[in-house]
Amino acid sequence: MHKSLRRIIDEVENAVDFPTALATLARSVRETLETEACSIFLLDFRTQEYVLSATDGLNTALVGTLHVKSDQGLLSIIADTEKPLNLEDAPTHPNYLTIPDLGEEIYHAFLGVPIIYNRQVLGVIIAEQRQRRRYAEEEEAFLVTLVTQLAPIIVQAEAKEMVAEQIEPGKHDDTVLLGIPSAPGVAIGETVMVYPAADLEAVPDKEITDFDAEITILKEAINATREDILELSERLAQSLPEAERELFTAYIHMLDSTSLEKDILSHITQGQWAQAALRQAIQTRVRQFEEMEDTYLRERAADVRDLGRRILAHLQNQTQVEIDYPKQTILIGEEISAADLARVPEGRLVGFASIQGSNNSHVSILARSLGITAVTGVANLPLSKLDHTELILDGYYGHVYVAPTSVLRQEFLILAEQKRQLDESLKQLRDLPAETTDGHRIQLMVNAGLDADAGVALAVGSQGVGLFRTEMTFMTRDRFPSEEEQRIIYRQILSAFAPRPVIMRTLDVGGDKPLSYFPIEEKNPFLGWRGIRISLTHPELFQAQIRAMMRANRGLNNLSILLPMISSVDEFAEAKALIDEVYDELQAEKCTPRPPLGVMIEVPSAVYQARALARQADFISIGSNDLTQYLLAVDRNNSRVSGIYDAFHPAVLRALKQTVRAARLEKKPVSICGELAGDPLATLLLLAMGFDSLSASASNIPRVKWVIRRFSKERAKTLLREALQLETASKIREHMEATLEQAGLGGLLHARR
Ligand code: PEP
Ligand code: MG
Repeated sequence: MHKSLRRIIDEVENAVDFPTALATLARSVRETLETEACSIFLLDFRTQEYVLSATDGLNTALVGTLHVKSDQGLLSIIADTEKPLNLEDAPTHPNYLTIPDLGEEIYHAFLGVPIIYNRQVLGVIIAEQRQRRRYAEEEEAFLVTLVTQLAPIIVQAEAKEMVAEQIEPGKHDDTVLLGIPSAPGVAIGETVMVYPAADLEAVPDKEITDFDAEITILKEAINATREDILELSERLAQSLPEAERELFTAYIHMLDSTSLEKDILSHITQGQWAQAALRQAIQTRVRQFEEMEDTYLRERAADVRDLGRRILAHLQNQTQVEIDYPKQTILIGEEISAADLARVPEGRLVGFASIQGSNNSHVSILARSLGITAVTGVANLPLSKLDHTELILDGYYGHVYVAPTSVLRQEFLILAEQKRQLDESLKQLRDLPAETTDGHRIQLMVNAGLDADAGVALAVGSQGVGLFRTEMTFMTRDRFPSEEEQRIIYRQILSAFAPRPVIMRTLDVGGDKPLSYFPIEEKNPFLGWRGIRISLTHPELFQAQIRAMMRANRGLNNLSILLPMISSVDEFAEAKALIDEVYDELQAEKCTPRPPLGVMIEVPSAVYQARALARQADFISIGSNDLTQYLLAVDRNNSRVSGIYDAFHPAVLRALKQTVRAARLEKKPVSICGELAGDPLATLLLLAMGFDSLSASASNIPRVKWVIRRFSKERAKTLLREALQLETASKIREHMEATLEQAGLGGLLHARR
């Protein structure tokens, strides 16, 4: 049955449209279970009725027209219990519903399995048979496994269908897709789809009408690939052993065999562009090879994939066009990177929506600091249907509206105006100190990363840069920036803020911050080669960066250096020794005094060694984003578990408090630069813990300042004591929400007012 499982998923994924996918699914399940009928009912969320969406064995004339109320029949039992229902003789069940003309009365055996996605029942798949019998345990398990794997595909396909209808003129309902709110605000604009180059898996579907043009492009790409391989094989003829050279012959065979080309062409004639047609043909072949018994043949799957990539590279070279970014651009994609954002010309980007990612992904943090709207984790974002479409993003609730009606657009324009007014009113706070009603002051710093940030940060009244993420300079290039390039950028930021302090963090790539020119393939990237670990294995890169920072600091003296992802005292000492070497070397150039060196606390081991680290470092800065991820063992980038990523978790708050205490005991300044620092709900708790400074994205600084100026430090201490008595993150949030509401600061919580 395992083979059938793969085959069925493959067929459903590659079906031309949603009804065909469901019909294929019903037929394949009926055949595999050797049963007599298979039907699929999907829930219509608006009417709360199940609609017969495909059948093989019942009356097909009722497909699309038969509606069953969600509280009726055996369907309701399956949906309510969210469990399979396996009956020997269904008509004798008290809930059995007789439906005229369906032709179901001849069947007795019944197996119904719920289709569940993200805890929601989407529908039910049912197998039936005349003979009275219970379906075997393996049959039930097969159907459950199949449905689990198909649920996301069904969600995607259904959304595509819904969206296709929506963008037809004359439709008036607003289609809303749900995701994770990742950067607040409202964006109204036109989409541009982005996807990584030379990655076969990432090629999106795209419908075409000019078949001839796509066929010509394909043929040219195949010819160019053939020439490449022949040339490579000749060049390596002397140096490669015979066996290795056979690989080239095999490639040429595959390219010459008419079946691969025919297969790709058939997808093109069904309306796919050449790149996706290639992807489908290659994927089918890869699966066929992977299912082979013979080890040698099974391993050929990798060769097919490689050949596919080579053809794709030529296809992409030919179709590379300058992207025309609309005035109000909304990027959409499987995953959006910082580099994608940086590629949009200044002033044109209003937001992005992606299938992957979460509100704590680095790209979401970047969106917040740029003041654009973002919705991530939109599992059913139908990319291929949405290129160059009008969208509305609601970054407060994580909603994406496709081809909105004018009424909806009007409503959102009003919301956008309200946000603008709130921001405007907060500007009055710009020159006032972040001081409590009983005279306690705290430093408010800004998190920056792109050079464009400097102006905004100064405008909102920050007292310096609490975290300059240097990796952005590395991520927006196609090679490592030279030492001089780095020096110029660092100098700009240091002089823009001088004499205010600027804390520059050394390179923190890895995890969800890849460098296209320095690929790191790992099973667990967040637990792998990341941050300081890379710097210590590449001292030449690390020292070049430190040199660039120290030279940029000459005559300004406002630089501090911060080390990310430190997990032990040894790592800190090793990094410090490398930094000292650079400092000594630069003495001849009369550089500035030694910049203070800080350590980020973002790994649990560092919390427990905070005192030892504080003794050796000049200052401490807590990275609550990663600390939350590692303390709660929840990937900050994974939309499936985003619901349990919460920096208000009592364990995280205790870790923060403990770290502040350790720094205080060593008389070292302590700050926090994770996203929690910019959350007005957390402000009073952080103030009470004794942080010397909070570093947040520019847009949050006025909000945080507003809270600080309304409360006394004494009151904050009481609130912290109360919060730490509570045992769950949600209770702590509720407590803080109620506090701000009572103080008349509810507007900060409901950005929509
Ligand atoms: C953090 O982890 O809290 C932090 C500030 O670093 P980054 O978000 O860049 O990983
Ligand atoms: Mg971090």
